[in-house]
Amino acid sequence: MNNILKYLGDLFKGIGTLWTGMKVTAKYFYKNMPGARIFAGEIVTQQYPENRKTLQMFDRFKGEVTMPHNADNKHKCTGCGICEMNCPNGSIEVLTSMQTVDGKKKKVLDKHIYHLSMCTFCGLCVKTCPSDALAFGQGFEHAVFNRSALTKVLNKPGSELEKEEKKEAPKVETPKVEAPKAEAPKAE
Ligand code: SF4
Ligand code: SF4
Repeated sequence: MNNILKYLGDLFKGIGTLWTGMKVTAKYFYKNMPGARIFAGEIVTQQYPENRKTLQMFDRFKGEVTMPHNADNKHKCTGCGICEMNCPNGSIEVLTSMQTVDGKKKKVLDKHIYHLSMCTFCGLCVKTCPSDALAFGQGFEHAVFNRSALTKVLNKPGSELEKEEKKEAPKVETPKVEAPKAEAPKAE
């Protein structure tokens, strides 16, 4: 008898969980029918792939790590290696060399290598970069035939570090303070 009750309990539990899942499916299936929005609420999925050329992802979407370059092919990466140190799974390799720039020896970025296939999109590299040199891109079609295609060099060929313009420190005028006049002590 106990076995039968347990069997029936499991059966109804299974039907209940199936119904929960089917309700979500049904909402999305009938979302475009008149009046269906009342039941469907906010639709969070996107139509794809027919509209891939016009599809815009959300602003906060993390498609892949990128290194923005300006119109002069300059980036902000100094090659400090902080993103590489902070990446929890070794998805970043920063290769640098010492070069003479403006008469001084400086560390210069050679290659900023990003292994998209290992990236978990945690965002630590983007958040901890002191130069604000990294950002998340909106690209999402990452299916490739060869895994090596998911290893990317983020600094573009021929690109270089964007020099920061030196800002002149504002002149601060010190207020003139008149020295108090010392009165000579009166002789009694
Ligand atoms: S991307 Fe940022 S943290 Fe990484 S090496 Fe370049 S400057 Fe440093
Ligand atoms: S998003 Fe996270 S896992 Fe991906 S490269 Fe940056 S630190 Fe590494």
